[in-house]
Amino acid sequence: MRIRILGSGAGGGFPQWNCNCANCRAVRAGLPGFLPRTQSSLAATANGRDWVLLNASPDLRQQLAQSPALSPGGDDPVRASPIKAVVVTNGDVDHVTGLLTLREAQPFAVYGSSRVLEVLSQNRIFNVLAPAYVERKELPLDAPTPLRGAGTDLGLSVEAFAVAGKIALWLEDALKENFGSVEGDTLGLKVTETATGKAFFYIPGCASIDAHLAERLRGAALVFFDGTLWRENEMIEQGLLGKTGSRMGHINMSGPDGSIAAFAPLGVARKIYVHINNSNPALNAFSRERREANAAGWEIGEDGMEVSL
Ligand SMILES: [Zn+2]
Repeated sequence: MRIRILGSGAGGGFPQWNCNCANCRAVRAGLPGFLPRTQSSLAATANGRDWVLLNASPDLRQQLAQSPALSPGGDDPVRASPIKAVVVTNGDVDHVTGLLTLREAQPFAVYGSSRVLEVLSQNRIFNVLAPAYVERKELPLDAPTPLRGAGTDLGLSVEAFAVAGKIALWLEDALKENFGSVEGDTLGLKVTETATGKAFFYIPGCASIDAHLAERLRGAALVFFDGTLWRENEMIEQGLLGKTGSRMGHINMSGPDGSIAAFAPLGVARKIYVHINNSNPALNAFSRERREANAAGWEIGEDGMEVSL
């Protein structure tokens, strides 16, 4: 199984269009230690030919242009795509709007929770993915679902599970508890190669790691995990946005309540942060925070990074 990070940034990407924070300034200036990052998405393939996207970001067109394996070529017909399925983990703008890039009468399947499928059906602009070409399939929680799309068996199965989190920002209801979030609004995915049983986890949004999630991840070969923030208050401290990580549904990397500490006893063989916000000091390859994350066995994901399992 081959996995490619299409986008390692959080919503807004890196640099973010309207941000002049120290990190965004540095990456715009091309300073050493800073790499641009597009918004959150992964792609995976078992056979090297047919791919599934895990989330579809607003940067998808650029990401595909930078990924020859995900573009038509060779003996393909005049209209073709290696992308046979897309799995969406929530209704975030940075996770669903790339679906609009996949219009043009190309067959594939979209998998999402019933909540995400409801979002797609209530927003008629997604009808550009005409039902005659694009199947929408409900992804049940806690059960492996074999991925099929465009008449192709991808040789992969996906198990979706609820993690602590929050409903997408644009769906928030200020009058309801936790802004109207319900279980299943934020999903983690376990992707398994059917032929070998090899598996990895993809959890781009997660507010906390409870005992149940910790047990699920214990001993895993590979986890891509929510690397939005280094510190709970960093966006407030930098004057970027008046929200803490927990208010946004994202655990921080550092500190006793952070993901580095939570993963330390779990024996995960390879740990890679994705969905990294432009405020995160670990984006700087020469920072103390990057050294601390690396020393704890974490890699900071980069666009175009590929992992084979
Ligand atoms: Zn910034």
